[in-house]
Amino acid sequence: DLLVVGSANADLVIGVERRPAAGETVLGSDLVVHPGGKGANQAVAAARLGARTALLARVGDDAHGRLLLDSQRRAGVDTVGVLVGGAPTGVALITVDPSGDNSIVVSPGANGRLAPRDVRAADSLLRSAAVVSAQLEIPLESVVEVVRNLAPGTRFVLNPSPPRPLPEEVLAACDPLIVNEHEARVIAGGELDGSPEDWAAALLALGPRSVVVTLGAEGALVASAEGTARVPSVRVDAVDTTGAGDAFTAALAWRLGLGESLVRAAAYAARVGASAVTRSGAQASFPTAEEVAAL
Ligand code: ADP
Repeated sequence: DLLVVGSANADLVIGVERRPAAGETVLGSDLVVHPGGKGANQAVAAARLGARTALLARVGDDAHGRLLLDSQRRAGVDTVGVLVGGAPTGVALITVDPSGDNSIVVSPGANGRLAPRDVRAADSLLRSAAVVSAQLEIPLESVVEVVRNLAPGTRFVLNPSPPRPLPEEVLAACDPLIVNEHEARVIAGGELDGSPEDWAAALLALGPRSVVVTLGAEGALVASAEGTARVPSVRVDAVDTTGAGDAFTAALAWRLGLGESLVRAAAYAARVGASAVTRSGAQASFPTAEEVAAL
């Protein structure tokens, strides 16, 4: 089974002609509300592919929290680990201008209250997982607690987004650490020279057991002590890349849990990521296994 530990947000989206300056009011389009947050996205992406998936997260006791729980359940995610209350559900306030550029304000809300003791209390979920997948939209101490409570043999996958320098203890548990170029740069401490192969080598030197660098339309790069391999993506007409990284990570974690090699799992994940960019939205864009096979 796959356990995703992470964030759940309501994405509130309004189209605007232009952004308001300080003290100014502008009128926008009708409000659209989507379930989002990297943890919630990954859990839905995995469940839609057919993975047995549970989510450990925290939402508020409010309408946004209920929206998130509903979308998880509709996708088939086990929500026994979704805690309710403590703060309002996390929200991303997103304005989109006519050129498609976003401005986003995130209120972490309940995500910031997913505490180390919540992780300890979810011991049975952690112990029944073949793979645990986390991101960084929850407190870092809670990610550290996940790593400390992994059962022997449970594989840990981390997408450090939003990126920040990581403690050695977390880095050493990653198998793989999954990063895009921006995340790679921050984790590596700001310097990143040469090719993606060089970036992967620099990241491996920090201690993870393996590294995956995602490269958008170029696919991904997989690196471990056994060597480095490029994994191509599929050529598609990209409509909206939102959620592609979440779909990639979820698919990779699931396939690793099935016993596939890192290279094979990444190749499958690249197809899932490619499929996700052919539709708009995040959770709405995630494919079923049939759709991946038909790509
Ligand atoms: P992130 O969203 O985290 O920056 P990427 O943009 O690298 O991540 O996307 C994750 C994966 O999705 C890529 O490794 C690739 O397999 C797939 N993907 C993303 N964009 C495209 C695209 N335009 N065409 C084909 N595949 C894509």
